[in-house]
Amino acid sequence: MNVLVINCGSSSLKFQLIDAETENLIAKGLCERIGIEGSRLVYSPTGGEKITIQDDMPDHTKAVQMVLDALTNAEYGVVKSLDEIGAVGHRLVHGGEKFACSTIITDEVIEAIKECNDLAPLHNPANLIGIDACRKLMPNVPMAGIFDTAFHQTMPEEAYLYGIPYSYYEKYCIRRYGFHGTSHLYVSQRAAEMLGKTPEECKVIVCHLGNGASISAVKNGKSVDTSMGMTPIEGLIMGTRCGDIDAGIIEFIAHKEDKNIDDIMKILNKESGVLGVSGGLSSDFRDLEDAYAQEGDVVGHRTLRTFSYKVAKYVGAYMVAMNGVDAICFTAGVGENGPIVRDMVCEYLGFMGVELDAELNSKRGQDLIISKNENGPKVMVIGTNEELMIARDTYKLVK
Ligand code: AMP
Repeated sequence: MNVLVINCGSSSLKFQLIDAETENLIAKGLCERIGIEGSRLVYSPTGGEKITIQDDMPDHTKAVQMVLDALTNAEYGVVKSLDEIGAVGHRLVHGGEKFACSTIITDEVIEAIKECNDLAPLHNPANLIGIDACRKLMPNVPMAGIFDTAFHQTMPEEAYLYGIPYSYYEKYCIRRYGFHGTSHLYVSQRAAEMLGKTPEECKVIVCHLGNGASISAVKNGKSVDTSMGMTPIEGLIMGTRCGDIDAGIIEFIAHKEDKNIDDIMKILNKESGVLGVSGGLSSDFRDLEDAYAQEGDVVGHRTLRTFSYKVAKYVGAYMVAMNGVDAICFTAGVGENGPIVRDMVCEYLGFMGVELDAELNSKRGQDLIISKNENGPKVMVIGTNEELMIARDTYKLVK
């Protein structure tokens, strides 16, 4: 069965068509600037030429229509008709406490997702627009929703509660939820496979280090803690998000700079993280690694060191949460491609026998064990594949 995976944002829509039985990618692409002048579809059939199709996309329904037209196009399409798409899997950001696993999308499920909109006001409504557009154009195709938060619903109370009045949890569901769940699940399962074990037999720490970054502790196949919270701003220092800070800083900056709460949140979400620590140099780790490589560099050094120290502290904390660890995995943009960051993080972990193999750490593009220690936890680089995880879950549900 072919599964169409949809990841819909407010003005973009990413898609992949995956053969769920062989797990082969058939085609992928991206609709950009939906509802904005200059919209276009970039379409890549596996093994074929990448094609850019410029056309007006006033709304997401038109975007989905263009995707379906491309997939069935007589010249460069990959299926003969829409009958060859057996199911659609939608990436959804926030399922609150309502969704602890993936689910078939029904009218009731859509209402329940809407009830979580408050928790992700930018993302959930955009995800719902994508569902609506697909349901209009493929009314008889079963669809599933896969939530970023669902995998972390197994966190125990002590991991998800904040130290604020309990009534806020009761009234408004203020608690830690965590994100990047499909990535943490995929990578932890792959790590178990690479260890020659089942997920139920392993303690894995997954460091998802991308523009957004989070770490999770996965014990016996279940998430027991993760660094993002009620929103994705908590935890690690990220590209432009601040991660954990003293809540008192908010009031302090507001007074000193005469700013309101919206201004401050913009600073903490868009102007902080490694962009902020580097004094505005860049939120892109490639630039920071380039800076770091220059002789006498201070900014790159300061930024990467501050970032890596925080990652290492979380690794330590999650070893406590799981009473040990079998594998520490690096994934996502920086995790998969940033040898300097991996090296810096692992320097802090030498006390428990972790030692990186420099040659393996410099390799790219394959899942690898990059530590050379026989005893102690293995360090791994694993390419994340959220789309495949979504296709797997969708196929399981629809079958
Ligand atoms: P993601 O959000 O997973 O797409 O990751 C984006 C981040 O990965 C950006 O900060 C990039 O700078 C970083 N990244 C991508 N490629 C490299 C690379 N070759 N070296 C270091 N960082 C990289």
